[in-house]
Amino acid sequence: CGIIGYIGNRPIIPVLLEGLRRLEYRGYDSAGIVFLEDEEIKIVKTKGKILNLEEKLFNDFPKKAKAPGLGHTRWATHGEPSDENAHPHFDCHKSLALVHNGIIENYYELKTKLIAKGHKFYSATDTEVIVHLIEDFLNQGIPLKEAFFKALKELKGAYAVALIHKENPDFILIGRNQSPVVIGLGKQENFVASDIPALLPFTKEVLFLNDGEVAILRKDQVEIYDLSGNPVARAPYHVTWDI
Ligand code: GLU
Repeated sequence: CGIIGYIGNRPIIPVLLEGLRRLEYRGYDSAGIVFLEDEEIKIVKTKGKILNLEEKLFNDFPKKAKAPGLGHTRWATHGEPSDENAHPHFDCHKSLALVHNGIIENYYELKTKLIAKGHKFYSATDTEVIVHLIEDFLNQGIPLKEAFFKALKELKGAYAVALIHKENPDFILIGRNQSPVVIGLGKQENFVASDIPALLPFTKEVLFLNDGEVAILRKDQVEIYDLSGNPVARAPYHVTWDI
């Protein structure tokens, strides 16, 4: 039930793990992270505690792990708690990886259509339809950003989503509808999380994303749009408290 994301020059894994630990209080049954390694998408995820995820990571530590990366704690709504159902979820070619908080109410119709088009699903979650839907638009030759907007417009329900694409490693795409998302601003680095406590070790300058908005997070720039693609201006907010 929490998301953390990072783009910048810090070692990615400690940032994601610290963010996840600070989201633990929200409750969860599984945890996972994604990052780039040798320009490939690398996902490590597991049912259970963040400690289990750390064990899995440190047994075979990904020394070449690089940003951008995403982390997720899951509170299962569709599909039992298991390694396969833990986020991040990925497309058929493992070039996209996505984390999601919330519920996709029309996932069953979308999944039926995508299966008929040849998509193979790896989990029992509602979430996985989002990443296949984006892949389906990419397969039609639609560029990634447009594919992301188009996919979000087809979703009914609540979501906070963050996506990375191995062929576009210079940005993270974020979408929000009825699930909280806050962006953390840094120097030559930016963050995204479900709430402020996950960002506090790194920055106190934040931007809130509203329902029906998309953010494109680069290390030196954050752009916000509405779902029709119009740019939105958003003033940063300075957090004055600590935990
Ligand atoms: N509905 C999604 C799932 O069951 C996301 C749950 C969450 O918010 O953690 O995987």
